[in-house]
Amino acid sequence: MKCNYCEWRCELENGKYGVCRMYYEADGAIQERFPNKWCTYSIMRIESVPFYHAYPGSRSMAIGTAGCNMECRYCVNSFIAREDPAKVQEKMFEFAPEELVKMAVKRGCHNIVFNVNEPAVSLPSLLEVSRVAKRAGLPMGCLTNAYTTEYGTELLAKIFSFVNISLKGLSSEFCREYLGVTESRPILQNIEQLAKSVHVEITTPVIQGGNDGEIDEMAKFLAGVDKNIPWHVFRLLPEYKMKEVEYPNIEHINASLDESRRLLPYVYFHNFVGSDWVNTSCPKCGAIVIKRFSLGCGGDKLESYNCQGNACPDCGYIIHIHGKRMAWNSKEGAV
Ligand code: SF4
Repeated sequence: MKCNYCEWRCELENGKYGVCRMYYEADGAIQERFPNKWCTYSIMRIESVPFYHAYPGSRSMAIGTAGCNMECRYCVNSFIAREDPAKVQEKMFEFAPEELVKMAVKRGCHNIVFNVNEPAVSLPSLLEVSRVAKRAGLPMGCLTNAYTTEYGTELLAKIFSFVNISLKGLSSEFCREYLGVTESRPILQNIEQLAKSVHVEITTPVIQGGNDGEIDEMAKFLAGVDKNIPWHVFRLLPEYKMKEVEYPNIEHINASLDESRRLLPYVYFHNFVGSDWVNTSCPKCGAIVIKRFSLGCGGDKLESYNCQGNACPDCGYIIHIHGKRMAWNSKEGAV
């Protein structure tokens, strides 16, 4: 029986696992190996996930599971995503959807974000969590590589109302060499598809000499999908099989973003402390409408939100924002 969650379409039978090692076949259906097991349930600022244009300032409960359907050579979470899920799950927490959502509410979270590994490898559990979260008034978001089938993508859109898609590279050479998949076509199609139904932001980790030559082409593609898509260009700090590779040069990458900034009004460049490129300017009058501070390594913070509703206070232009600005609180709450 073929798994229809992602583009690998693995044949699962006779106890065989697929590429992600998170599903198996039993009783004529695809089953999750470790349902309702979570590697974390920590509190994060939504800007750190990163989401810059969804529920600004909100407090998110970050969750993850184990396993992944890609083999990125630079993976920063390889100890969870690339390790044998059977081993990882021994150290994971088991919570039914009701318990997980209850904890998020108790801890004062405004939403739940799946951001450690790939959600496609845990879709049935996430679907259940989303049903309970919806009843509790908590929207859900995720980071995904979007290497999903049409069915997998439909499920992502059903579970998550805001999604950050990792557009890692375009060429087949890059996909094969760095990601362990053969092409970017399904990912591009899914970006188009998801942008029609949910809030989408994009993240591109840049590898100098790897995908930096594709930046202009990616910007053209994104502008063709929706020029309001926020784009996070990340200075990649490689781990896993690329630990020894030098960090990309900030000035070099920033210079290669000139054309992208002409095409897209919301281009951000971060993942290093004190980045100057994390604020949102009004695309019409240029006023800085949202200020943030970059703590590096994906840790970012909202400093000021000057929009009125989601309009520029100077010229009234509507800034592309999903959901309301939320007030961060320090409530810890008993778990
Ligand atoms: S989610 Fe993808 S990698 Fe995992 S078993 Fe299904 S088709 Fe294979």
